[in-house]
Amino acid sequence: MTQLPETNSQPNTFRVRFPPSPTGLMHVGGLRSALFNWLFARHHGGDFILRIEDTDRRRYEPEALSDILESLRWLGMDWDDGPEVGGGYGPYFQSERLDLYQKYADELIEKGAAYYCFCSPERLARVREEQQRRKDEFVGYDRFCRDLEPHQAAQRVGDGETAVVRLKMPLDGQTTFQDLIRGEISVENSTQDDLVLLKSDGYPTYHLANVVDDHLMGVTHIMRAEEWISTAPRHVQLYQALGWQMPAIAHLPVVLDPSGKGKMSKRKKKGAGGRELPVLVQDFRAAGYLPEAMFNFLALVGWSYDGHTELMTREEIIERFSVKHINPAPAAFNYDKLDHMNGVYIRGLEAEDLADRMMPFLEEAGLAADRETVVRLVPLVQERMKRLDEAPGLVDFFFVEELPDYDPKLLIPKKMDAAGAYALLDEARAVLEDVSPFAHDPLEPALRELAETMGVKVGQLFSPIRVAVCGRTVAPPLFGTLEVLGRERVLKRVDSGLEKLKTLEQTE
Ligand code: GLU
Repeated sequence: MTQLPETNSQPNTFRVRFPPSPTGLMHVGGLRSALFNWLFARHHGGDFILRIEDTDRRRYEPEALSDILESLRWLGMDWDDGPEVGGGYGPYFQSERLDLYQKYADELIEKGAAYYCFCSPERLARVREEQQRRKDEFVGYDRFCRDLEPHQAAQRVGDGETAVVRLKMPLDGQTTFQDLIRGEISVENSTQDDLVLLKSDGYPTYHLANVVDDHLMGVTHIMRAEEWISTAPRHVQLYQALGWQMPAIAHLPVVLDPSGKGKMSKRKKKGAGGRELPVLVQDFRAAGYLPEAMFNFLALVGWSYDGHTELMTREEIIERFSVKHINPAPAAFNYDKLDHMNGVYIRGLEAEDLADRMMPFLEEAGLAADRETVVRLVPLVQERMKRLDEAPGLVDFFFVEELPDYDPKLLIPKKMDAAGAYALLDEARAVLEDVSPFAHDPLEPALRELAETMGVKVGQLFSPIRVAVCGRTVAPPLFGTLEVLGRERVLKRVDSGLEKLKTLEQTE
């Protein structure tokens, strides 16, 4: 077990956090970060904090918050501190903690560890352009205001001049920290610029708010996306300036597109066969991925138990999760693997449970499906479904009185003509009319016997029956399908098939 940082201000338990910014709908990459933190907390019997980093007012999206909460709940990730549940370290919305950030910014200014900067955005852009044109090694703020006389600077702020607060980074030497996944990381301080801590509107930047809150909320371990790694040395300096012990830190592996070539896209992309690949958590839900499959799959995006075990229950994953086995290498998001895993989870469900999960998808597709029938047809489709959004396409013909138009030629089996198909279907109709009860078992032997009597292969007989009752050549197993449809509807559909064949015969 990782040692707790030795400091009195830390609570006597591991505390990790997921601090999303409500700037858009939740991406599956964010859900993966949340999951790793949650697993760490649950593995160690620690706390999982949900904190809403809503200080970027321009990018704030009102619907993002409920989407974050729903996404976490969907995967069954509960939080010990945060919105709706409270906790001893609130408030958990940064917009309600502005006075705290101001207080620490003031404190840093007083200590001489931070300074007011009055440079206009235009000046900053000009400086940057020049640096880029000259191909300078260092591109960033040129510290123009760093050595202003502190009292004069404070006076200018008092007079109402617009200013930001910047951290004074050391000008030489190195900053070194241990990343729990990547080992020791060191950077030359001369390559780092003076981070903005407080913006001119009084709102903190991510850096100040995140550091202040991680400290005040007793966070012991930070596990955040790799994209933040470049800010870590400056956060180390910020902790030092504030005189605080920095939590242990780990940067999670980047999630790549399935090709493994680039970072996973922010928007849906077309995959094989033109299918739109989901990237937002709500799109995964809408595609009919089961939360338990998603949980299992996401845990393996960057972590592995022993390099080969894939299917694990929630409890097993919690029990086995360890930061030691998080791989720093970027991890590709393999949709085929997810589909396969989802299929395995679907096959493991009880019929009633699967029926309940299929219902909303059938309703959404406009099918008047009743639960009782859905439960009965689950055994017919359970083996064939990888995602619940495939359900309507598999079972729609059970919930219509009449089949939509289909190509009559489908009714003709291989090596036969319309007349032959008609003869077969006509004989089959007689059997379908007679068999009693109208159930799988008497139906199967009766139709097999018919094929034998007529001297055709079973496939040649079953195929026109299947097309006549389902309107397609690929469909769930025939006898169970007939049973669920019931004699009346089957005979009606067979009659309509016979008519189609007759029309074909006449035009042949
Ligand atoms: N608010 C940041 C984000 O949404 C948090 C990053 C972090 O420190 O985990 O990316």
